Amino acid sequence: MKKIAILGSTGSIGTQTLEVVQANNDIEVTALSCGSRIDLLEQQIRRFRPKLASVWEEKKAAELKTRIRDLNTKVSYGMEGLLEAAQHPEAELLVTAIVGMLGIRPTIAAIRAGKTIALANKETLVTAGHLIMPLAAEMGVPILPVDSEHSAIFQSLNGERQNEIERILLTASGGPFRGKKREELSDIRPEDALKHPNWSMGRKITIDSSTMVNKGLEVIEAKWLFGVEPEQIQVVVHPQSILHSAVEFKDGAVIAQLGTPDMRLPIQYALYYPNRRSRLGEQLDLFKLQNLTFEKPDTETFSGLALAYQALEKGGNLPTVFNAANERAVALFLDGKISYLQITEIIRNAMDNCRHIAAPDVEEILETEREVYDFIDSRW
Ligand code: NAD
Ligand code: MG
Repeated sequence: MKKIAILGSTGSIGTQTLEVVQANNDIEVTALSCGSRIDLLEQQIRRFRPKLASVWEEKKAAELKTRIRDLNTKVSYGMEGLLEAAQHPEAELLVTAIVGMLGIRPTIAAIRAGKTIALANKETLVTAGHLIMPLAAEMGVPILPVDSEHSAIFQSLNGERQNEIERILLTASGGPFRGKKREELSDIRPEDALKHPNWSMGRKITIDSSTMVNKGLEVIEAKWLFGVEPEQIQVVVHPQSILHSAVEFKDGAVIAQLGTPDMRLPIQYALYYPNRRSRLGEQLDLFKLQNLTFEKPDTETFSGLALAYQALEKGGNLPTVFNAANERAVALFLDGKISYLQITEIIRNAMDNCRHIAAPDVEEILETEREVYDFIDSRW
């Protein structure tokens, strides 16, 4: 039986991963972890009986321990707990479904321990891709993408590894404000931005989709996963979210993966790669689709996407600045402290003012994150 561990099991990706596990009924879950939602974690523990459960907050971990004293599940907390879950000796695969740069250290620890990585936590690759990819290659550890676009690219590359990629066509839904101009976005409220037309996801990534910063993060993620240059990655706005991304080869052939928008497909593909399991979501019915449309992204209105390309071009710790500034700005926006358009203004400001480090190590990446937070907190 395949054995897996999940970081962030109570989130959108985490719960859908457990749905896939439950539906297939042939994977054992050895470790689960979450930030603070111990009610849901307890239900998951009772259902999947992991050997280890880790909770970020120490107090919540203690409460969970009392609640599940009738079980044999060990409870840990904090970064120690995350690292323990990531390296759990029995698991062969780790699903990284936590949000943010917190995923860097556990992901590196898991790679060092030889675990296959099913990677959803894009912030880890965006900020530390230059450390993670060479380490994974050295350890012979596969990094299997869970993000739907990257899974589509990965699937399009099956049997094509010896052929060079001409271009990656990275699709984006365009989010709820597609077609709007900058002026029209000035009084957007959190509840408007939290409505995604096609996907149901965590709060942070939903805001990121509306600003297209998510697509920017995915451009950077694609560079690291597929070893392509920024100019080889073309973002294509495709509002129906049916074509999940494509690869163009030098003979002009374009290979894509299509499907209904359902994260369980890429999650299941990563869990069972290279095998396919039965469909869990709706079947794609081409006759029901009126049309599939494709547009160029409007990088003037959605300037976060242009800033991501800049961060990627300059490299070093700039993708970390981009990501950390966005994280803080999104939190401020959700708290009602800044306006919607200030999210990208803050990212630009942080990028203009940061100290550039060409090849940051983990400590320097985390230091950059703290510096960016301090910079933003002292001004907004
Ligand atoms: P989410 O907010 O729904 O869930 C986040 C999870 O992380 C929760 O289980 C939470 O408890 C856990 N967590 C938060 N802080 C933690 C901490 N300090 N210690 C341990 N666990 C902690 O987020 P999500 O939408 O599931 O996204 C997770 C990751 O996957 C993100 O990096 C996101 O960009 C990426 N992703 C998500 C989707 C999607 O459809 N939701 C698609 C592609 C990629
Ligand atoms: Mg995606």
